[in-house]
Amino acid sequence: MQNFVFHNPTRILFGEGQIAAIGPEIPSGARVLITYGGGSVVKTGTLAEVKAALGETDYLEFGGIEPNPTYETLMQAVELARREKVDFLLAVGGGSVIDGTKFIAAAIPFEGEPWDILAKQAPITSAVPFGSVLTLPATGSEMNAGSVITRRATHDKLAFIHPLVFPRFSVLDPTKTYTLPPRQVANGIVDAFVHIAEQYLTYPADAKVQDRFAEGLLLTLIEEGPKALAEPENYAVRANLMWTATLALNGLIGAGVPQDWATHMVGHEITALHGLDHAQTLAVVLPAMLQVRRFDKRGKLLQYAERVWGLRDGDVDARIGAAIERTRDFFESLQVPTRLSGYGIGAEAIPPLVDQLERHGMTALGERQDVDLARSRQVLELAL
Ligand code: NAP
Ligand code: FE
Repeated sequence: MQNFVFHNPTRILFGEGQIAAIGPEIPSGARVLITYGGGSVVKTGTLAEVKAALGETDYLEFGGIEPNPTYETLMQAVELARREKVDFLLAVGGGSVIDGTKFIAAAIPFEGEPWDILAKQAPITSAVPFGSVLTLPATGSEMNAGSVITRRATHDKLAFIHPLVFPRFSVLDPTKTYTLPPRQVANGIVDAFVHIAEQYLTYPADAKVQDRFAEGLLLTLIEEGPKALAEPENYAVRANLMWTATLALNGLIGAGVPQDWATHMVGHEITALHGLDHAQTLAVVLPAMLQVRRFDKRGKLLQYAERVWGLRDGDVDARIGAAIERTRDFFESLQVPTRLSGYGIGAEAIPPLVDQLERHGMTALGERQDVDLARSRQVLELAL
């Protein structure tokens, strides 16, 4: 096991009815800006519930944060918050609203051009504190310090990570996910699955606890994912799915182990240029990425084949191949296509995607930094 520091400061309020408990989580006397997306939380009543829970707290609202939140929209919120002297943010929505709110939180006190936080990884020294009410289990953003922001004008989709943007608290009420369209339920399952894969399918590091956690989370997704689609209001299923997605990317399974993230980085470019949902890009890239790197990853792929998919027969190559195919079949069973052609994207799209990777410095990806542009091209070709 590698050395690590693990500290996760986010308080989790889990379960039905927990929105009512947010009052004491917000500093008294705070001026709050509630942030939300395209209106699902208005329609479902979640926003009204949040406002009721705020009681006498002084609050303003900013709606319209889009999926794959954009710098252009978020800067409007930054201006509003600066003008109105907001000192606490409350994100109500999915990963896009929470990621967007992290950027707003860091940008409000930032001196200079806030885009530099993403493009130049400019250091931040303060951020406005915030909490979240999660409505879509997928990204783990509710309990991590990462944020991914798109700049519409230049087709850039870039990430920043900073301990100052951990949420102070997050409410995880599984009943708030009942209204999700099947596509977003499936997206969430795939995103969480790939988060686990990026931290588990690397090379062996004698990290038995992290491995067993990762395998348990993957098995839960495989068992509960199809049920979540078939029985949208099954509380136990939604609760297990929600907590799995959070644990998939809150630092726990990633502590002390090598991490990959090449699938996410290639996926971000596909969203930036073609507008696919985040999870759709991952469903396309992961099977091809594992195929191209199956020799380097053979130790963990074999363990995955046996412990997650129960594949014990046949030679090493056959078991690894079957595990990759099971992964693809699982995504397809959730109605998430796993080929670029499934989204109407052909071979002509590959050179611009490789150019984007180069422009963003994504030239040495993966746990061994050996996924260069040639290998990324190979992955994209195999994903056609
Ligand atoms: P999302 O983009 O936040 O939301 C997708 C859609 O689901 C939106 O149209 C939203 O509608 C709708 N929705 C959300 N909750 C709903 C509910 N309860 N009922 C009905 N509709 C609902 O999806 P996401 O997958 O959570 O977030 C994706 C973003 O997170 C991407 O930009 C991705 O790159 C990023 N990401 C971040 C991390 C991280 O660690 N920070 C990790 C992976 C991915 P409204 O807009 O109307 O609310
Ligand atoms: Fe993700």
